[in-house]
Amino acid sequence: MSIDEYEAIRLADLEGLYHEHAAEKMGVSRQTFGRIVEVARGKIARVLVEGLALRIEGGEIVMAEQRTFKCQQCQHMWSVPFGTGRPDNCPECKSKNICRAEGERGVGKSGQGCRRNPCSRSQ
Ligand SMILES: [Zn+2]
Repeated sequence: MSIDEYEAIRLADLEGLYHEHAAEKMGVSRQTFGRIVEVARGKIARVLVEGLALRIEGGEIVMAEQRTFKCQQCQHMWSVPFGTGRPDNCPECKSKNICRAEGERGVGKSGQGCRRNPCSRSQ
């Protein structure tokens, strides 16, 4: 399923937007939007009926695919692809005092980017 299809379903069925509104959000015409939704629903139906795995690909759904970590020792920040697991230590200074930075936006609010100390949970 493409990212467009996923987004269309999300807007139309989950958020319950009118096609007009949803189409606007996606920057496509209402007709196009309607077609995308149809295709997407067809795919979802198949997944349900045939027990297939649903895969969403392409597009800008990068949000969850990278996880950003921050070193408390040297403030170095880096990202790892989602699914590779949590790094053990900082690639720069090898410190184990690292934590998850919740996206660049969240960083700065607390000054540190890390709340309390979610990373001290020793493993
Ligand atoms: Zn470091």
